[in-house]
Amino acid sequence: MAKKDFFLLIILSVFVFYGCTSLKAVIFKTPIDTTTKRINNQLKKTYGFNDIGVFASNKFDGARLNGFEKVNDSTVKVIIRPENTPINNSAYYSFKIWSKEQKSIYIEFDYPEGFKHRYIPKIKKTDTSWEMLPSENLFKKDEEFSIKLNVSKDTSWVSAQEIVTSKDTEKWYKGVIANKPYVHLKSVGKSRLGRNLPVLDIYKGTKKEKPIVVLLTRQHPPEVTGFFAYQEFLKTILQENNLTNDFLNKYRVLAFPILNPDGVDLGHWRHNAGGVDTNRDWSKYRQPEVKQVASYVVKAAKKSKGKIVLGLDFHSTYKDVFYTNKIRKTTVLPNFIESWFEALEVNIPDYKVNEAAGNSNKPVSKGWFLYGHNAVGITYEIGDATPRDRIKQMGRVTAEEMMKILTKTNIN
Ligand SMILES: [Zn+2]
Repeated sequence: MAKKDFFLLIILSVFVFYGCTSLKAVIFKTPIDTTTKRINNQLKKTYGFNDIGVFASNKFDGARLNGFEKVNDSTVKVIIRPENTPINNSAYYSFKIWSKEQKSIYIEFDYPEGFKHRYIPKIKKTDTSWEMLPSENLFKKDEEFSIKLNVSKDTSWVSAQEIVTSKDTEKWYKGVIANKPYVHLKSVGKSRLGRNLPVLDIYKGTKKEKPIVVLLTRQHPPEVTGFFAYQEFLKTILQENNLTNDFLNKYRVLAFPILNPDGVDLGHWRHNAGGVDTNRDWSKYRQPEVKQVASYVVKAAKKSKGKIVLGLDFHSTYKDVFYTNKIRKTTVLPNFIESWFEALEVNIPDYKVNEAAGNSNKPVSKGWFLYGHNAVGITYEIGDATPRDRIKQMGRVTAEEMMKILTKTNIN
């Protein structure tokens, strides 16, 4: 090989090497194995007992029903299993049920050994909206959980939380961004099973050098209360007023409305179709969803010369809580968390911020923002049973106060 060609090859190799490694691994203290694992697919079918005239089905997106048994003439049992184990206690169920004649029946819930009932059932009929089943219809004895339900020919959906599928999500974000030319809807790629991974790239004027705020949600399928806050948060940013105008002239928002669409549509308790908790994969990106989303954020920042300053990841747990990073003085927004929490307590009536600060030892998104980008990362958790009106209020006020603080902040 001629000397000139040799040098050309070296230069080319370096170029290819850097091209492929633009997404750097972020190292965490406690690594987690996120290699793909097998999941148990639920058999999609309609179950039923002609003698008692009661039928149940999981033939819809977001369903979770692994078996249906008759206990006696007035009692049936639903078998609920996770996609794989080990898995957190997030016993998600969702099925539809109907009967030949109108009557009251008892439904017993069968979870695997070691898993407890978590979610109060939400009920919906064809033409009604979701309602929580009243407490007099719930029966809890030791580890056993059952409900009393009126069934009829008119199908009832019984679900751990309100069902919000990937199609529902698409319909929602297409609605909120209609007639907003400053919102650029793009796809960052596809999930393991080929579902779309959308992103809303939001900015007014040029995107060049604008600091970037990243909004994530639905890594964990049943966590719709966090998603409800996300919806209100995004809607607030997209309203037309002076605050949003100032904010979007100064900042760029990358909003990912559904990170785990396979898990959502398959009615998973927590994992993606690769049987993995995607919120433990923000280190080496072994799962396609995290890899493509992380890669999009990094490339977008690099291309527009914008700094990633804040990442909010919306989830749900037993109660409202903000999981923050202890390290904050060295981040690009050292005072953001204190200012934000203070403003929330002033602007949300009867509200006290519940903060749990930690070191993000495991590869979660909030740690990725901190260790990978020196940005503020927060896991924004809404309680499973937080009243839905309260969630809307929180979503709105948290967005308004974030915009007020950030528009006043100078990023170096
Ligand atoms: Zn979660």
